[in-house]
Amino acid sequence: LPLPEKSLIARIRRQSKIWPGVAASIGDDCALLKISPGHEALITTDFTLEDVHFRREWHPPESVGHRFLARGLSDIAAMGGKPVAAFLSLALPAKLSQSWVDRFFMGFRKLADRYKVTLAGGDIAQSPQKILADIMVVGSVPRGKAILRSGAHPGDFIYVTGRLGGSAHTLRELIAGAKCKPSTHSRHFFPEPRLVIGQFLRAHNLSTSMIDLSDGLSTDLAHICDESKAGTKIFSSAIPRAFSEKSGKSKKTGEANQVSLALALHGGEDYELLFTTSPRTRVPKQIAGVPITRIGEITRGKGILLVDENNKTSKLKPQGWEHFS
Ligand SMILES: [Mg+2]
Repeated sequence: LPLPEKSLIARIRRQSKIWPGVAASIGDDCALLKISPGHEALITTDFTLEDVHFRREWHPPESVGHRFLARGLSDIAAMGGKPVAAFLSLALPAKLSQSWVDRFFMGFRKLADRYKVTLAGGDIAQSPQKILADIMVVGSVPRGKAILRSGAHPGDFIYVTGRLGGSAHTLRELIAGAKCKPSTHSRHFFPEPRLVIGQFLRAHNLSTSMIDLSDGLSTDLAHICDESKAGTKIFSSAIPRAFSEKSGKSKKTGEANQVSLALALHGGEDYELLFTTSPRTRVPKQIAGVPITRIGEITRGKGILLVDENNKTSKLKPQGWEHFS
């Protein structure tokens, strides 16, 4: 390791803020979390592997730190919860520079502080070559109020936040060898977990089910179908795409539109939310400045039906998000 484990941990501890909700953190045998009366704990874990989820030559260290935490926070958002503490176990190669580690934690901390999440523990070990990480996030939600995947009913409307396919679009460019500027507004490099929206939906009892779009719309919508024991019908013209459709009838525009639709349907790592509501529920057009778009409805059938621009209906197979393949 660039620094001995003990001094590395001391350095991380010095730089990390302890937010309310955490009574004891790094330095004790266990972290001690305060769960407010009448609340339940939410816990999520995610593995992140170098060359599977990120590449050192593509992703600056700040982006890697941000993305590790964003994955966990997005899961808390999908249940309508509030994040409290994060636990990070890292395996780092000995050859990694101290500046990489510092910049990694800077990206991690910036996002953690924005949502008042304490880095309350974890572990550091040496790895032979690659960076490996396990992130765990603990959150809280009022008892019985967490929004599950299983609550959708036939007739419910389906909504998504933001625009889809942006992260996959950037990844596609990176794979093609393009130089992509890792701007802080990029959904790929610095995805913003939709915590404010998740908590808004929960507080106003708006949604019947919810999931975050980490693997791609077709895959994540299939999870809602499975858990709710229902089917869905979605309209391709309604799906908000990260890069706009071009009008015109040329072959090239047609292909570009097909690509933007495919990325919106199957591209992963947008970390937007997909939720369902009763058809009687009034849903704002925007929440926290993010557009909310109705894309279809829950049906009595099985699986996902896609209705195209010409009103033709076909079965949509969930296409798993395979990183970098
Ligand atoms: Mg999730």
